[in-house]
Amino acid sequence: MRKTYKILAFLLIFALLPLVSCAKKDDYQTKYIFAMDTDINIHISADGDVRELFSLCERLIYSIEDKLSKTRTCSDVYRLNAGERVKCDEVTLAVLERAQTAYELSDGAFDPTVAGLVEMWRKCEEINALPSEDRLAAELSRVGFERLHIENGETWLETGTKLDLGGVGKGYAETAVAELIKENAHAFGVRGFMLDFGGMVGVFGEKANGENYRVGLRDPDNAKKNRGRVELAEGFVSVSGDYERYVTVGGEKYHHIIDPKTGYPAQNGLRSVTVISDDGATADALSTALFVMGLERALELCEREDIQAVFFLSDGEVKTAGGANYIK
Ligand code: AMP
Ligand code: MG
Repeated sequence: MRKTYKILAFLLIFALLPLVSCAKKDDYQTKYIFAMDTDINIHISADGDVRELFSLCERLIYSIEDKLSKTRTCSDVYRLNAGERVKCDEVTLAVLERAQTAYELSDGAFDPTVAGLVEMWRKCEEINALPSEDRLAAELSRVGFERLHIENGETWLETGTKLDLGGVGKGYAETAVAELIKENAHAFGVRGFMLDFGGMVGVFGEKANGENYRVGLRDPDNAKKNRGRVELAEGFVSVSGDYERYVTVGGEKYHHIIDPKTGYPAQNGLRSVTVISDDGATADALSTALFVMGLERALELCEREDIQAVFFLSDGEVKTAGGANYIK
């Protein structure tokens, strides 16, 4: 590891721990990885040395990234986006299945075929101009999960449509890592672990004093502060917010969560949505989906599907659903 990365890793370890409390810093061994365009921290509390387990986790994350990356020329997603018919790996198929469930539940608010629109907004920043009506209409005409086909073991996209699994892939990878650590828990004497994949947190196993884990929720207006926390015995917590990633056009910020109906970043009075689930991919996809749906439709879906969620609104109000244990 280069020296700068070492320093970065050190800083990140101590940046994450305040987010997940009920654990003494020195109880945990930590591994920092940069993958999936994300800072990843894995913290394991164990009786023995877990460096070998960290290596297994690292290899697993890179192997998932190899299938889902938009930029690696051999990945399933790259090849699908290039118009090929692909015999996809089971990882890619599993992620597509989760994406489809979120697409259906959210009535199209979650739709990974927004890749063309994401790319369009990146270009808008480069040329510092908003999209023309024609460009927007052209991109919108290529959006729609029903333009992805899986038949006889082959997957392909209709002409011009592209995939971006950035709204669900990290959650999938986090669940896979959690499963791997659980499978090896006995061999390495693992007592508990905390995963942080850039805003997607997973907490498992024994905690100090038998208390619940506490996951701090970032104040949308202040990156240095939390606005309350959620408490849980174990599981995954995913946050989708308008402050996470954005492009700047004409001095205005345009965030990274796109409404597939308008082509513009979703703007509906929500600043962030947090979803708690025992499955990482579900938490990841649903936090993105609910953010696009807006409060009213999101609350209906949470009620119908029993989804635990916390909503931070533009006016500073906080709403919860599904019995999410939010503490101010
Ligand atoms: P997240 O940060 O998990 O909420 O996911 C946001 C990422 O998902 C973006 O950076 C895009 O890569 C992708 N994305 C943006 N809008 C959508 C959408 N409406 N449905 C699915 N994925 C999306
Ligand atoms: Mg997501």
